[in-house]
Amino acid sequence: MPLTSAQLHSLLASVAAEIGKTRETGSGLTQALELIAEHLGATGGMILRAEDPTTLRLAAQIGDTWDEEQLPAAFMDITYAEVFRYHRATLVPPNAAGYPGGVIGAPLTVGERQIGGIFLIRGPERLPFDEEERDTLQLICLALAIQIESREESRRTSARRAELEAVHSSMVDGLLVVDVRGYISTFNETFKRVCQVPSYELYGLRWSHLIGPRAHPTIDAGQMMESFMDAMAGGEPFVTTGCPAYLKQPDGVDMPVTVGLAAIEENGKIMGGVINVRDATVEAQLERLKDDFIATVSHELKTPLTTISGFVELVRNHELPRTEVIPIFDLILDECRRLGRMITDLLDLSKIQSGLLSLHLEKFSVAKMVEQAVRPFRMRYRDTHTIKVEITPPSGTMVADRDRIVQILVNLVGNAVKYSPAGGEVTVKAQKLKSEWEFTVADQGMGIPEAALPRLFGRFFRVNEQQSSGSGLGLFITKSLVERHGGRISVTSQDGVGSTFLVRLPATTVEGAVGVEMLETGKSAGRRARGQ
Ligand code: ADP
Repeated sequence: MPLTSAQLHSLLASVAAEIGKTRETGSGLTQALELIAEHLGATGGMILRAEDPTTLRLAAQIGDTWDEEQLPAAFMDITYAEVFRYHRATLVPPNAAGYPGGVIGAPLTVGERQIGGIFLIRGPERLPFDEEERDTLQLICLALAIQIESREESRRTSARRAELEAVHSSMVDGLLVVDVRGYISTFNETFKRVCQVPSYELYGLRWSHLIGPRAHPTIDAGQMMESFMDAMAGGEPFVTTGCPAYLKQPDGVDMPVTVGLAAIEENGKIMGGVINVRDATVEAQLERLKDDFIATVSHELKTPLTTISGFVELVRNHELPRTEVIPIFDLILDECRRLGRMITDLLDLSKIQSGLLSLHLEKFSVAKMVEQAVRPFRMRYRDTHTIKVEITPPSGTMVADRDRIVQILVNLVGNAVKYSPAGGEVTVKAQKLKSEWEFTVADQGMGIPEAALPRLFGRFFRVNEQQSSGSGLGLFITKSLVERHGGRISVTSQDGVGSTFLVRLPATTVEGAVGVEMLETGKSAGRRARGQ
């Protein structure tokens, strides 16, 4: 009995409902197959899914089983070939199939692509399948294939959307999607957090209301942003990165950011744009520091040079007695040393920043090492400062990079003298604790204001730029050297009373850390030159 068009319509609607009901198409397919079999009077059937043109998978099976073992190979070949190779519906007469009611089969195709096939079998109770029933099955298959495909597509889409949402919300960068006129249509959590504007307000805004161009020596950010908007208005593709900008924030403090701008193209049409917003606070700070640094370093390097050339000219142009020339040479020497120190600091800074600072470990007497660090200051400042040294126990030794530990003490004692008035006393103590040496350098100088303490060990930091003749690198390098040895440094200070720097270092720095190499004890001739 052929199906009436009303029956067919109702069958297709029920099949669609079954497919749409379940999350997994697999179980929906069995229900759909049952409905189809019932309407077409089949006693059994199966749906095969084609993963690709050569791989078939049984996706649903009902009623009398399709026993491939029992069927003649030639029959199998022809049936499968019809459905899967030629994409045609097939009707197999009862005798050929061994099934009293015969077999009908039809491909499940979406456009050119075959996604599977349905086969139905019929027992002896009814007349064998006819061509009309085969054609009906083909029609059902067309509708079912579209249902399956759209169900799977929507599952793929929601999986992709979930994936994208996970990516968006876990992104460190802020992300904005805008329409071709620049109105914000969507954004991720990071953007919402950094811009501090409630979601409901964001939707009605143009992105240019929140993001503006930031001045840069070589990049014209304003021009970049204009080109982006022009490209979108004109339907042109556009993509650019590294555009310096700032993000306006409600508190009035603009945040430096770097943005990437790209037009969204779909089927050759520009649908809007995506704006990637990266926090550039650190870069902007570094940029500023670099500018300050270049200004500071050129000034600091020029000052001693001016002094040196002035004195050299003085000696060259005048017949001066030796008693007057010697102090002038001393001043020139001082300035040369200052220049040398500054250059050494700059070289150390670049080694620290590039991770190339290696240690050369050896065993040495702490008392002798401290003496070496302190002696030049004792001699230079014998008329103005008293420098006391206490070592406990005096015979103690440690394993570390001796030159670097001297450098740590030289920096601390140098500052202690530099930042204390004449008549001040500086005390250097070294005390062996369990597995550590504790060094303290205490002065009775100007002290350090509490507000400056957190930044004291940072690069280029100077409490009072007028009073300091240094580059603000000494304590940064000192801290890096201490930490490189596995130690720590801290400071206590009272404004106007004095400061105490405390350094704890392992008595034995462990060999094997990156960049650490062991020198043969006593082979001091093998130590590298440091250019100090
Ligand atoms: P600088 O080369 O400027 O001395 P440092 O990194 O050694 O650089 O020190 C950073 C700043 O810390 C100094 O400019 C100074 O203001 C302050 N400072 C360091 N040591 C002392 C100290 N013992 N007493 C007072 N201020 C100090």
